[in-house]
Amino acid sequence: MQHEVVNPATEQVIATVALADEQQTDAAISGAAAAFPAWRDLAPADRARLLRRFADAVDADLEHLAQLEVRNSGHTLGNARWEAGNVRDVLHYYSAAPERLFGRQIPVAGGIDITFREPLGVVGIIVPWNFPMPIAGWGLAPALAAGNTVVLKPAELTPLTAMRLGELAREAGIPQGVFTVLPGKGSVVGERFVTHPLVRKVCFTGSTAVGKRIMAGCAEQVKRVTLELGGKNANVVFADADLEKAAATAPYAVFDNAGQDCCARTRILVERSVFDRFMELLEPAVKGIVVRDPSDPASEMGPLISAAHRDKVASYVPDDAPVAFRGSRPDGPGFWFAPTVLAPVDGSSPAWHEEVFGPVVAVMPFDDEAEALRLANDTEYGLAGSIWTRDVGRAMRVARGLEGGNLSVNSHSSVRYSTPFGGFKQSGLGRELGPDALEAFTEVKNVFFATDA
Ligand code: NAP
Ligand code: MG
Repeated sequence: MQHEVVNPATEQVIATVALADEQQTDAAISGAAAAFPAWRDLAPADRARLLRRFADAVDADLEHLAQLEVRNSGHTLGNARWEAGNVRDVLHYYSAAPERLFGRQIPVAGGIDITFREPLGVVGIIVPWNFPMPIAGWGLAPALAAGNTVVLKPAELTPLTAMRLGELAREAGIPQGVFTVLPGKGSVVGERFVTHPLVRKVCFTGSTAVGKRIMAGCAEQVKRVTLELGGKNANVVFADADLEKAAATAPYAVFDNAGQDCCARTRILVERSVFDRFMELLEPAVKGIVVRDPSDPASEMGPLISAAHRDKVASYVPDDAPVAFRGSRPDGPGFWFAPTVLAPVDGSSPAWHEEVFGPVVAVMPFDDEAEALRLANDTEYGLAGSIWTRDVGRAMRVARGLEGGNLSVNSHSSVRYSTPFGGFKQSGLGRELGPDALEAFTEVKNVFFATDA
């Protein structure tokens, strides 16, 4: 089967990709299982060196990868360059791991007790279309560093950069079978990662509905699973905040990547005494967003990923929606949707509760800290959030009170490869990135050595 890859900014077909069927998926999984013992047993410094070479190959191809992502995913050039650089950086970060995968020596009577961190075997990584490169890198780099082999399924809509990463790995000397990219359907390739007994762990990023299904499927074999699912994140602005800065940055916290970001701050909560002033400041910031051909370096927001997704996003803004103001969008082809601000919103409206995954933000006032926390936590999700205040004590209290895995104070930046990333509640299970991600790709083995004569 073939899939036509479409440029979402032009609606033109830019490539045709062969989709793997179940047989090909099984063959790739067998290949990954066959490659596992040699990869696991490679001297730690040699595995580290190969990962650094892979990182260098990504760096040398950075501009090409970025251009590919602009065409395949409609990401702005600036974002796409950052995303390719993130794959390089994550590979470099985890290339330090093979030589530092320490166990422990635990005092016991009659002998010596030590622990080892053993790799799992074949790891299956299922990637969504919203951040094809970073999400691939966050899984594959620590998985390979810990000594696992990897099969990776990109989203059907966005396979091109993942396929290129597969080529770069081979060019860098990563052995055959250690990292294999399998373009294909979720219902075929993704499903097989869940059911195939030789896949010992699944890393999934995508919708909560599919994530639940994967978790249930993995239970059948007690298969390890990491889930990164949706978000309905709050940006909480207190009256004592730097309002100019909060309003100037709020649009980028939700409209970046056209809102197709699980960390998008799609609910802005503003203390009532400054609500009107905040809205006055927000309007020019939203109208100033440069929504344009993503290959133009000045573009700040590109199109949505597909016509179907644009229709879904549009359904959250019906004709009677309380639109406060909107930004612009180009005419002509492309799956464009203008940045849209809804206010005041009804707390029961779908735009307030559901993950829109598009450039739509809802603004609501609150009266005090307790109400802000109640509104922010009134969701099944718990991924990210921002807190704007100059009161350190309040920042600390609200940060502890918010149910979310990735928070930022007086900033919207909560993703770094060196710090943990993941969700509370139905936003996911487990953590990626940071110093502890290796734990999710290894099993602890405890061995007691008797020293009795
Ligand atoms: P999705 O269906 O969850 O897809 C994510 C990945 O899972 C894709 O690679 C997909 O393959 C695969 N998949 C689909 N069904 C599967 C199955 N039964 N078994 C194994 N793998 C499967 O997400 P979507 O349809 O692309 O987007 C729908 C909504 O999910 C969005 O509107 C958004 O709300 C949310 N979402 C969240 C994130 C996030 O970062 N948390 C990312 C993307 C989407 P195919 O490409 O073949 O479908
Ligand atoms: Mg889907």
